[in-house]
Amino acid sequence: MTSAMLYSGLGLDRAHPIRRGGDIAEQMRRPGARFTLYWRGRQLVGGTPPAIRWLDRTYGLRLAEATGGTCLLLGEDPSGPLLALDISALGGGEQGPEMGGNWVMLRSVGGLLPTQDAALLAYARGMLVWRERTRFCATCGAGLLIEDSGHSAKCSDETCGALHFPRTDPAIIMLVTDGRDRALLGRQPIWAPGMYSCLAGFVEPGESLEDAVAREVWEEAGIRVREARYFASQPWPFPSSIMIGFNAVAEDGEPVPDPHEIEEVRWFSRDEVGAFGEADRPGEGGRFLPRKDSIARALVEAWLRG
Ligand SMILES: [Zn+2]
Repeated sequence: MTSAMLYSGLGLDRAHPIRRGGDIAEQMRRPGARFTLYWRGRQLVGGTPPAIRWLDRTYGLRLAEATGGTCLLLGEDPSGPLLALDISALGGGEQGPEMGGNWVMLRSVGGLLPTQDAALLAYARGMLVWRERTRFCATCGAGLLIEDSGHSAKCSDETCGALHFPRTDPAIIMLVTDGRDRALLGRQPIWAPGMYSCLAGFVEPGESLEDAVAREVWEEAGIRVREARYFASQPWPFPSSIMIGFNAVAEDGEPVPDPHEIEEVRWFSRDEVGAFGEADRPGEGGRFLPRKDSIARALVEAWLRG
């Protein structure tokens, strides 16, 4: 059994019956309402170790009114509705507006948060980024009417009437082995020098996840995959992906890197990968593995354990 990936396993009741057809203004005024804040890509946390810094109903309503920012219902817990509010309209220097906490990029601090807080902030971020990027009807360009407590958008042009929903873009990530105790790892030129990881890429229209695994490995490394087995998945709202992990078995052969995306790709033995270090203390040759909260790392660790 694979242990749960960071950002997954959110236990929150997403309150479908309440949010369906619901008016967000009503939800914001319900007793016990609490708000998690978003400002220009960053989210508010506080304390040591850090956790979500929730705002109560009075303060949240005041901020919503002052900023006119997007608000949506995330779900319900025993104390009442939980909402996400975008206050990007507020000014603020490098530190962001003063709200009694720290404005952080989830990607940098996710692993330090309680797992439920990390999952909830990932959910809030994914929703708010969708709203941020979905201002007009993609079919006809008219404005949108926000519905379902912030979870859907309907074109305001009656003859069009297209519906728009939050999107999640599937990306596959795979640990490729050759059946002879070697794994195929590579690196992209934009990564920190010395970091090696699994191959990955977006799923394209008209292919299954397994097709995407085979195509990406062929494109990035010139290696043919003959089997792909599902491993686990990880929400990755940076901005709107889900990473779907696979263990793939490939035919032997010398990899040839895709010159546009891959700086280096090669087979490594289990012993070699086991000797890779961490970013702050690299192993032999300056090599290190991706961070511990990534599905790439989970794939590699599971293989190392055999
Ligand atoms: Zn439209």
